[in-house]
Amino acid sequence: MADERVNLLGLPRTELEAFVASRLGAKPFRARQLMKWIYRRGAADFSSMSDLAQDFRAQLAEVAKISVPEIVTEQRSSDGTRKWMLRMDEVQGIETVYIPEPDRGTLCISSQVGCAMDCSFCATAQQGFNRNLSVAEIVGQVWLARRELDAGDPGGSNARITNIVLMGMGEPLANYRNVVPAMRVFTDDLGYDLSRRRVTLSTSGLVPQIYKLAEECNVALAVSLHAPNDALRNELVPINRKHPIDELLAACWHYIDKQNGRSITFEYVMLDGINDKPEHARQLARLLRGRPAKLNLIPFNGFPGTAYRRSPAAAILRFRDILNDNGVIATIRRTRGDDIDAACGQLAGKVTDRTLVRLGTRLNTVSRSSAEV
Ligand code: SAH
Repeated sequence: MADERVNLLGLPRTELEAFVASRLGAKPFRARQLMKWIYRRGAADFSSMSDLAQDFRAQLAEVAKISVPEIVTEQRSSDGTRKWMLRMDEVQGIETVYIPEPDRGTLCISSQVGCAMDCSFCATAQQGFNRNLSVAEIVGQVWLARRELDAGDPGGSNARITNIVLMGMGEPLANYRNVVPAMRVFTDDLGYDLSRRRVTLSTSGLVPQIYKLAEECNVALAVSLHAPNDALRNELVPINRKHPIDELLAACWHYIDKQNGRSITFEYVMLDGINDKPEHARQLARLLRGRPAKLNLIPFNGFPGTAYRRSPAAAILRFRDILNDNGVIATIRRTRGDDIDAACGQLAGKVTDRTLVRLGTRLNTVSRSSAEV
């Protein structure tokens, strides 16, 4: 018989309260107790929830479960970055990356198996789109990372994941229905209790969903711009053909107004000879000057089969300087975890055939090491 128990992992507070009321005739504070167990203490088993009456726990176990994805592999980078591959089915996986820094710990999570956006410089695009992740699979990535991080340090610090970024595999706004409830759990004080500025959703530019998000959720927004004009952006980020730059930027400024936000982070991958010329920097400055915008320059990370190359360090620095001189704040994203294919744009999520992927990337790494920034 099919398992009809409801997975409580990822249910936002209002839904969990409704669930305990309708299925168990319990008061809302039971939902709050459950959330504390699931998110603060990382419980996956009702029997361990010692402040719940025994018969309530038994009743719960009949109608509900706490079910998390399965970890297939873990890889650790020499720089401390950790990457987990989670099994979605026989061949497909998704990847979650933890990036420690002296003052914070960022968890980069996935929102879809594969991606349909087809950006020409992204490894995830190569595998095409498979399916949306459920709310439990999105929240489950944080739940698992917390467990793994605590494992090496029993009773360890809850503060280790200080930021969550939806910058892994997939286009989060194309899975709006599941991403928004997951973000509610991230910011709920009985969930992961992160301030809205510490949860960042990155999008390739789904304009209607940006307007929708402005009404419903107030997390920080990052936008994958990658080009200063439509002709070039049409090539790099094909969704631009549907929602060109002026429409996209209008949606961004609306989002900031509506959310009383500080600024949008625009991501810009540095591709040698493609979008890294001084003229591109000047065009960008004209688009963003005087706006609530920051630019994050991402040195291109290679993957097997790509014809793109990373811009030389000098070109990246010059690009940044032109922007800064023209009144736009620009920073260079430090490459993290590229020795384990965990850097931006390298997440491929193949459960099988890892050897091929690794060999190709290793060859790539050698050829681009001289361009490290
Ligand atoms: N789909 C969302 C979430 C991905 S975020 C989005 O497009 O924003 C990951 C960031 O890394 C995006 O800005 C993406 O464009 C960028 N990226 C993709 N491939 C890359 C690569 N090979 N090297 C560097 N950055 C890359």
